[in-house]
Parts: sequence; structure tokens; C-alpha cells
Amino acid sequence: MTGLWWNRDNLASIFGCETEKLSFLFADAVAALHSNPVEPVIVDKAPAQSFVMDEPDLGKIPVPTHALKDGGPYFSNCVVIARDPETGIRNTSVHRLMVTGRNRLGLLMDVGRHLRNYYERAEAMGKPLEITINNGPHPAYYVAAITPSAAAPIDVDELAVASYLLGEPARLCRSLTVSTEGIADAQMIMEAEILPYVREPEGPFGEVSGYYASREDRWVVNVKAITLNRAPVIHMLHPGREVWNSVGLGVEANMFQSISRQVPGLKKIYLTHGGSHYGVVLQMDPPKNGMAKNAILAAFAAFPPLQMVRVVNSDVNIYDPEDVERAMVTRCDPANDIVIIKNAFCHELNPTVKDNIGAKIGFDCTYPVPKPARYEKISYRPVDLDSYEIV
Ligand code: MN
Repeated sequence: MTGLWWNRDNLASIFGCETEKLSFLFADAVAALHSNPVEPVIVDKAPAQSFVMDEPDLGKIPVPTHALKDGGPYFSNCVVIARDPETGIRNTSVHRLMVTGRNRLGLLMDVGRHLRNYYERAEAMGKPLEITINNGPHPAYYVAAITPSAAAPIDVDELAVASYLLGEPARLCRSLTVSTEGIADAQMIMEAEILPYVREPEGPFGEVSGYYASREDRWVVNVKAITLNRAPVIHMLHPGREVWNSVGLGVEANMFQSISRQVPGLKKIYLTHGGSHYGVVLQMDPPKNGMAKNAILAAFAAFPPLQMVRVVNSDVNIYDPEDVERAMVTRCDPANDIVIIKNAFCHELNPTVKDNIGAKIGFDCTYPVPKPARYEKISYRPVDLDSYEIV
């Protein structure tokens, strides 16, 4: 199964909230990490352990090769659970995993990720880092796993985010071969270890940026056991739009709150799919001229990877790229309404960025205050189709 994160309406129905509230629900769940964290429970007879493979064999699992030049089949959205080799605190995160053998995977651990920190300390002790790799749990576990480390520091177990969203404690199960727990209701659990001192080629992989990550020697996972749910459905995630959706939903509420502390009048915020996580549209009616530019600066301060901000009024549908483009060409005066900031800190995966340095651009596409008559959009009389007989 793929596409679960493709469409915000689908996700909103799973979480039982309105689409435009979803990011705020996720932000509440992250806030509960600190105000009221609910510990996971360990259950017996976990559905994810209904079947145990005699010998772990990844060749029996339908893992797709996503993009034409990918180095092999990839798991793109498995939830990895590990324990700090010194404190035992749990970490939950998502990593790409390339199938390289019957029981072998290549792994990427980005700089700054807690899993990499755990691994480096385990490796210094000469030990493997035991993990479980959980495929297809409820998406609440995925939300927990993508909680930014700024919100969930290394001494915090982010599974409380899942507990909040589920409305009951997250459900884990004891593993058969490693000391780290798995997710009891996952479709499949791979019990595994990241090997010390071993590096093997991993990649290329069509990444979230829309470009390929290079093939390099990276970390290696040895799979010790595979357990499965009854009639398991293996979950995948398309690394483009689905990741932008999850990044967007993870940061929009925090950005909204951060910008609103600086500038009044913000109504909605959307990290657009076309902009991946480098572009955002703000919907606001600035109370005074010039405040849209302040909002542009506040947005850049709120989320450093951003490279493009567009500000539109509340009569523009920010989820409709055509409506936003129309505001750009009819309400942004290029001589006065564009802000360019050169040589700022940006995200390394964007190919325009070198050594994390790049330029940022903001478009003020709001009309002047007070609103001139020439900016009134054409409107039509609403029609109730039920009062007509349509032949
Ligand atoms: Mn963590």
C-alpha cells in the first residue's frame, strides 16, 4: 500500500479532525510530550507477531524499487525503534532502508539524528545497536517518529506523541531476538542490529528534494528475525509529495504560532507541494501597509529551510496554485514587493544551495490597505443545484 500521506483529507479522516486543523492536532500531540506524556504499554500476543519467518528472508517481502535510478528496493517509511546504549531511553525515527541481501539492509542516518548518536556511542563500545524496524503501524506512530529533535530532545521518548493521537497508550511488544521493543500492531517487524565498523554502498535514492541522493558507503543492518501480522499489507511512502505533506503538517502549526507572535493578521499557512519544504504561502489581511513584508521575515526566522514565501490576502485559496499565481501577477508589484536575502543559511539538499548558503525570496502579493476598489474579485450568485431539475 502506498499513498496514505498523499492526501490531507484522507489523513484528516483517519485522525478524526478537519483537514485544516490537522497540523494543529499534531502540534498539540507534540506539546503533550512535555505537559502530559503517556508511557507506552507492553502487550502479550501482539498481532505483529502472529507469524514468525523460520529464516528472515527479505526476498519474500514485496519491497518496490521506487525511482528508475534507485540502487535497489527501498523501505521508505518504516518506523525504527532503538534504545540509548547508556540511558536506555527509547528513540523512534524514520530512515530509508535499501534491501541488499536476504537479511541485510543499507541505512542512512543523517547528521544530528538521535539514532546516529546512539549508534556512534554503541560503536565506540564495540557493540551493535539493536533496533526494531516496524512497517505499517497506525500513522500516529509515524507522526511520533518525525517529531523534530528541537521538540523532542534526546532524553525524551517521542512515542508519547502516538499515545496522544491514539487516545490510549502506544502498544509495544517484546522482541524475540533483540532487547528493543516492536510496535504491537505493525504489519511487519524486522528485529535487527546496526553493525559496528561495517560500511557498504547504499543509494542512489530518489529523495524528497526531487533529486537523487548519491551512492556512498553507509551503515549496514543485519536482520535477525521477521515477524508478521495476519494477512499483512506492506506500507510504502512515495518520497516526494508524501514527505512534503508530513513535513508540512509537522511544522505549519509551529510556524503559524511563531509568525503570529511577530505580526498580526495571519489566517492560514500552507507548505506547498510544488515548493517541497522550501516554499510556503501565508494567507493574511495585513492591518497596515508593509506588514506582509514583516510576515515574510518572520516566516524565514520560523523555519530555516524556507527559501520562498508568498503572502496573499484572505480572498485567495492558498491550496489552489492557480489562485496563488493570479495573486502574484495581479497584486505583487515586482519593483516594490519582492524581498531578496542573499547568503543566508539554507537546506543542503536544495541544489541551488552551496555549503548551506543560499538566497531567500519573498513576494508580497497582498493589496494595499485600505483595499482599493480595483482589487475586488468578481463573484457570482451562489446556486443550490437541488432547486433545479437538470436534464
Ligand atoms: Mn529522539
